Amino acid sequence: MARLAAIEQTRNLGVMAHIDAGKTTTTERILHYAGVTSRMGEVHEGSTVTDWMQQEQERGISITAASTTFSWRGCQCNLVDTPGHVDFTVEVERCMRVLDGAVVVLCAVRGVEPQTETVWRQADRYAIPRIAFVNKCDRVGADPGAVTSQMRVRLGANPIVLQLPHALEEEFDGLIDLIRGRSRVWDEASRGVRYRDGEVPAHLRDEAALARSELVENIAEVDDELMAKFLADADITADDLLAALRRATISLKAVPVLLGSALYNKGVQDLLDAIVDLLPSPADRGPQTGVEPATGERVVRQPAVDQPTSAVAFKIMNDPQVGPVTYLRVYSGAVRTGDQLLNATRGKLEKVGRLVRMHANRRSELKELEAGDIGAAIGLRTAATGDTLCDPAAPIVLDGLEFPSPVIGVAIEPENQEEQDRLTRALEALAVEDPTFRVSTDPESQQTIISGMGELHLEILVDRLAREFQVQARVGRPQVAYRETVTARAEVDRKLVREVGGRGQYGHVRLAVEPAPRGAGLSFSSQAPADQVPREFIPAVRAGVEEAAERGVVGGFPLVDLAVTLLGGSHHQVDSSEISFKIAAFQALQEAARAAGPVLLEPVMAVEVVCPVSDVGDVIGDLSARRGKITGIETRSGVQVVAALVPLATMFGYATDLRSRTQGRATYSMQFLHYAEMPTSVRDGVVAKGTGA
Ligand code: GDP
Repeated sequence: MARLAAIEQTRNLGVMAHIDAGKTTTTERILHYAGVTSRMGEVHEGSTVTDWMQQEQERGISITAASTTFSWRGCQCNLVDTPGHVDFTVEVERCMRVLDGAVVVLCAVRGVEPQTETVWRQADRYAIPRIAFVNKCDRVGADPGAVTSQMRVRLGANPIVLQLPHALEEEFDGLIDLIRGRSRVWDEASRGVRYRDGEVPAHLRDEAALARSELVENIAEVDDELMAKFLADADITADDLLAALRRATISLKAVPVLLGSALYNKGVQDLLDAIVDLLPSPADRGPQTGVEPATGERVVRQPAVDQPTSAVAFKIMNDPQVGPVTYLRVYSGAVRTGDQLLNATRGKLEKVGRLVRMHANRRSELKELEAGDIGAAIGLRTAATGDTLCDPAAPIVLDGLEFPSPVIGVAIEPENQEEQDRLTRALEALAVEDPTFRVSTDPESQQTIISGMGELHLEILVDRLAREFQVQARVGRPQVAYRETVTARAEVDRKLVREVGGRGQYGHVRLAVEPAPRGAGLSFSSQAPADQVPREFIPAVRAGVEEAAERGVVGGFPLVDLAVTLLGGSHHQVDSSEISFKIAAFQALQEAARAAGPVLLEPVMAVEVVCPVSDVGDVIGDLSARRGKITGIETRSGVQVVAALVPLATMFGYATDLRSRTQGRATYSMQFLHYAEMPTSVRDGVVAKGTGA
C-alpha cells in the first residue's frame, strides 16, 4: 500500500506551543480519536496495540517517531514532531521546513507566552498557514477573547474564532459551531469519543447569530469571492464559508481559532475537522525551488509524481538495531525501495533499503513514498539532517535548508585517553543528528573542537555524551566563531600556466565577488561560456572557491555572505585539468576578496532578561557594558522584560554573573540572531590573536 489518500487529501502538519499549554495532551487526543474512530473505514488490520509494541521491541525502532500518520475523514495526516524546547531553534526549523501547516496550542488562561511568540515568528518565516487551538477552556480564568486580542497585538495575527462556548471554566461542556450552526456536547463516559450534535440552545441563539454574522464579515474582509456574495446579499452556506476561510488561511490572511479542553476531551474532533477543511495540502503549497549543484542554476519541481524525484531528510534517529532511520519528506516524484538516489547536498549515491511509516497505533512497510508524503527510510548511509535526496539524473539541492553555522566552539578531550576513539564515534553520531553541531580538528594544536549555537547547546551535548554514550569528556574555554565577508564588488582575472614534471598545467578564470545579504552564506554560479571554461571543470572551480573562502583573508576565518560568479576564462586542450582550474580559482578568490573591502563579522545574540523592576537599571547597565544594544523594555505579568542584541563574545559566563547580580531573581534566554560587522577597535585584538573556533 502506498499512500492512503491523494495529494490533495494529504496534510503535513506540526503542533507547536509554549511549554505547558497542552501540546502533548492535544497530540495524544488527536491520535486517540483518529485511531479509534473508524469514520472513514480505516480498520486495524488485526494488529492490536500490544502486538505492535512487541514488534517494536523486537525490531528496535523507537516508538517516539519523528512523524506519525493518522487518518481523518479520508485525509492522510502526517503529524511531524516539532521539539518543544527553544534552545535549539534550529531543531524546530528543520521540521518547519517540511510542514505545510501547523496547529498552535495556546492556554486559554495564559494566552500568548514567550515561546508562542518564538514559534509564531518561525512559522511566519516559513510562511506556514496556521490554526490556533485555545486549550484549557475549562480552567478558572479562561478567556478566549483575551487570547485573540493578544494574538492580534503581540503576534500581528488576524484570528477568526469559529466557535462559541456554551459556558467557560468548570461549566465548559460544549461548543457552538458557528459555521455549521450546530451545538456539540461531549460525553464524559466515553472520554469524549462520543458526542451529541444538536440545535443551538435557545438562550444562546441571539448571541450565536450575532457571532456568526461577525464571522461572515471577518472572512469576507480577507476573501474577495465571499465579499462579492456578501455584497450581493446572496445566501452564504457553510461550504462557502469553509472554502473562503480555507483560501484566507492558506494565503496567511487569517488564523482560524478553535476552542477546547484536551484534558477533558472536548473540542478535539472539531480541531481535526479544521485541519482537514482549512490547512493546505502539499499541492496547495505549490512548487519547490532549488539549485542544480554543479552549475548553480535555479530549478523548479512541481508537487507531482510525474516530476523527477526530490526529497528532504529532515530528521535522523540512530537506532542501535537497524542503524540510521532517516525521515523523508518527498516533494516531487516518488522514492521507492531499491531506488538509487543522489544525495545532492553531499554528492554521494544512496540506495533506499526499506521504507516505513509510523501510525498512531502500528507501523507499516511501504514500497514507495510519493510526492507530498512523509515517511522514513532505513539503511541510508550518507544522509544527514537537511540533505536533499533526488533522482541522480536530475540533481537539485532544495532551497531553505541552510542551517546557521556554529557560533561558538570549545576544545574537547576524553577524561581518559583510551576513550579517544569512542569519543570520536559518539561525536560523529551527534553531528549527524544535529546540523548545527560540528566536530573539527584544530590544525595547529591537533585538538578536537566541537562547535555549536551557544554555551548551553554545547553543555547539553557534552551531557548527552556521558548519558547516552558513556564517554566522560573535559572541555576547554569557549571560543567565538568569527567570520569574514566583503563590502564591495571586485573582479579578478587569474591565469595559471606552469609545468610540473614535464606536464603542463593550464587554468584560467575570471571571477567576480560581491556582498550578499547577511545569512546568505557563500553562493557560486557560473556564467562562463562553455568554449571558455568547459562544463566538466566547473565543479573544480567551485571547489577552489569554497576552499579559499574557508581560509579567509583577514584573520583566517571563513568568508561568508558573498556571491561568487565565474564570468569566463580560457582552457587548453591538453594542459587543462581539474586541479589546474581548482588552483586558479583558489588564487582568484583570495585576490578578489582582498580587493573587495574584507571585514570581520561576529555573532550577535538576541537576549531576553526577565527580572523584577528593582533590577532593571542594573541589568541594562551591565548589558550596555557588554556592547549590547537595548531593543525593548516591557512589563509582562508584573515583571520587566529587557530585550537586547549583544555580541556573543561578551556573553560568556552570563548565567553566573546575572545570578549573582540579581540574587537569582532574574532569568534569561539567548539565541543566535545574525552575524554583524565588528567595530575596528575590537577587531584588531581578534585578528592579532588570530584564534577562532
Ligand atoms: P505541553 O508542555 O504543552 O506538552 O503540555 P502538556 O500536554 O504536558 O500539559 C501540561 C499540563 O496541562 C498537564 O498537567 C496537563 O494535564 C494539563 N492540561 C493539558 N490540557 C489541559 C486542559 O485542557 N485543561 C486543563 N485544566 N489542563 C490541561
